[in-house]
Order: sequence, then C-alpha cells, then structure tokens
Amino acid sequence: MVRVNPHYSKLQSSYLFSDISQRITKFQEANPDRNIIRLGIGDVTQPLPPACIEAFHKAVDEMATAKDFRGYGPEQGYEFLREAIAENDYRAVGADISPDEIFVSDGAKCDTGNFQELFASDAIIAVPDPVYPVYVDTNVMAGRTGAFVNGRYEGLVYLPSVRENNYVPALPDRQVDVIYLCFPNNPTGATATRAQLSEWVAYARENRALILFDAAYEAFIRDPEIPHSIFEIEGAREVAVEFRSFSKTAGFTGTRCAFAAIPKTCMVYDEAGKPTPLYTLWSRRHTTKFNGVSYPVQRAAAAIYTEEGKRQVRDLSDYYLKNARKIREVISGLGFFCAGGDNSPYIWVQVNCDSWAFFDRLLAGAAVVTTPGSGFGSCGAGYIRISAFNQHEKVEEALERIHKLLK
Ligand SMILES: *Cc1c(COP(=O)(O)O)cnc(C)c1O
Repeated sequence: MVRVNPHYSKLQSSYLFSDISQRITKFQEANPDRNIIRLGIGDVTQPLPPACIEAFHKAVDEMATAKDFRGYGPEQGYEFLREAIAENDYRAVGADISPDEIFVSDGAKCDTGNFQELFASDAIIAVPDPVYPVYVDTNVMAGRTGAFVNGRYEGLVYLPSVRENNYVPALPDRQVDVIYLCFPNNPTGATATRAQLSEWVAYARENRALILFDAAYEAFIRDPEIPHSIFEIEGAREVAVEFRSFSKTAGFTGTRCAFAAIPKTCMVYDEAGKPTPLYTLWSRRHTTKFNGVSYPVQRAAAAIYTEEGKRQVRDLSDYYLKNARKIREVISGLGFFCAGGDNSPYIWVQVNCDSWAFFDRLLAGAAVVTTPGSGFGSCGAGYIRISAFNQHEKVEEALERIHKLLK
C-alpha cells in the first residue's frame, strides 16, 4: 500500500490565487459585460527587453548548426552568465561574490522552495508574517511545521511585520536556525535599511543561524541608501544565501531564469557542531536534481548586463514604478494608510475591515482585482495588496473606478 506523505494534509487547501480566480470567474459569469482589471497576482505584462530578444534569437540560431549546437550545459549555469552576475550584481556594489558562488536555476520559487531540504527536520524556522507562501508551504511538506492551529503552524516562529515596525520584523525573542527575509518585500512592499539588515546578520552570527534572503525585487530599489543585496552587509558571507530572479527584473516570468548566490564561507553544522560549507551541499543537490537552464534562455538573461540591456531593464522597472506611485497617491488620497510602492511594485493598503470583504467590494463595485492580505498570513488581515504590474492605461482606469467607488 502506497502511503501518502502525511504532512501534505496540513497544507491549507485553497491556494490563495485559485481562491481569487474562482471569485473572478463567478463575478465574470454573473457580469459578462464588465471589463475586469487585474492588479492582483504579481505577474508582469510588458514584453521582454529588445536586448534579451536579440540574444535569445541568436542563441536559437546557434542551436540549429552542428558547429554551435549545445547539449547539456553545466548544471550550475554557463560561465558567461555567472561572470556577468558576479560582476554587475555584486562586485559593482562592493559585495564580494565570485562567479563560482552563483547557481543559475529556472526560478527563485524553486530555489527558495527547495533550499529547506538541506536542513535537519527539527530545524527551527522563522518566517515573516505576512509572507510569500512558498517559504511556509515547502516546510510544511517537509514535516517541519507541526499542525495548523488558529491560523498558524505550531512549529514555526512567526515574525510580525506590522505598521508599528514599518513592516520590518524585529529579531525573534528565542533562538531560531533558519530565517527567511524578503526585501523589497512581497506582499508589503517594505524595504530594509542597512542598519536593520546588519542587526539580522549580527543575530545570525551570534546564533549560528542562516538567513535566506529573497531579493527578487531588488531592481525596483531607487533610494541609494537601501542595500540591493544582503552581501552589502559586513559579515553576511558567513550566514546568508541570496536568491534573485530575472522574472520581475526583466520580464522573465514565462521565460524562466534565476540564481542563488551561496558564499563558500557560509556554514551549516552537524550535531557535534562541526561545520560543513552550505555551498558543497547545494552543489550536490543542484547537480543531482537539476540539469541546467536552456542555453538560449541563459544568453537572453546575460543580455540584461550589456549597456543597452541595463538601460532597457531600468526602463521596465521605471514603467511599473510609475504605476506604483500613482496607485499609492490615489489610494492614500482616499484616506487609506499605504506602505510600499516607492522602491517596490506592491502597495500594501490598510483597509480597516476584513481583507476578503474589501476584495469583494472592489471586485463588485469597480471590477478591479486585488489580493486579500489575509492570504499571506494572520498579520495581513485588514490589508489588501495592489500590484503595479499592468499597463499604464489599465492602472489609470482601475484607479478612476476605485476613486469613484470610494470617494
Ligand atoms: C515573484 C517572486 C519570486 C520569483 O519567482 P520566479 O520563480 O523566479 O519567477 C521570488 N520570490 C518572491 C517573493 C516573488 O514574489
């Protein structure tokens, strides 16, 4: 008899976005003539930058000739891409990361989800609340969280990100082993200062803990004081891993390319306290379970580091940031407290009522889709997330409708 993984039954059944899409379908069926505008799910709408398209095409043509054809590539990613990443994303901001500390993958979702398998099953895991659900659910599947009771998993340590702390959680009041952090944050849009990240690095060093730093939205940072990478913080090389993605940076959500940066000096420990480089473990895992991102996709990704590529991805994030500013302006003008939206494509709105009730009100009254904050954790109750990933005209129209409904 094949027995099911018992931990799967602890997962909260309805994945947030399928719940939302059911409500949208129901609304559209009842109102076939209403034109729905989606500011819900965090998916990009603008096409790939021309530099990426050109490199992508050229690489596909190379695959058509016996001379330039490529089969299996290096699991860790082609050197041309890893070198461009180390140089432009790290050394250029004074962060000491070398090309062989980069692992190219097909997504930061898979990387942040898979990484937990390197840790003991009784490792104490801390997650922000609200949180990107992938960090939580993958630990549930691995049996690390205990039961779901009153909206929270008993075995997880939750780090409240609330208005009182500007949505940057305080250090835990107990010892934890693994800490997930994400800045600029999904869903709150909050960013962390150098001083705040330094506190987390100091905590991790004192407790021999590990920070899993998700920097999927770093391309949206405009404030020069805000660090783009955890490795801009002194001492982070011993206690942190960073995840990045071309998804939001360069419109790769459907093309798929991302990477993890794992310093060779970052350690995990056995029961006797003997250190092992995390790098060695992830390298073993990655080469066993993954066979590389396709060559044309890696060429397309590398094109964002050329002069014109850099300009084009900057324009892309500027495009969405323009939406974000406008959303924040109109929604706060209606009297709601907003976070995010300046160095982030998300606006986190305190709605002073039930998240789903407000979601339904915007859907029914304005045909605009947002995301209920409660879907990201109990501290998200009373909030909605508005995404800036849409075309300017649609965002403007959505804001006009919301303004009319709520003014
Ligand atoms: C979108 C997103 C990612 C990127 O995921 P990909 O799998 O690379 O598309 C990672 N982390 C967070 C928090 C995100 O919102």
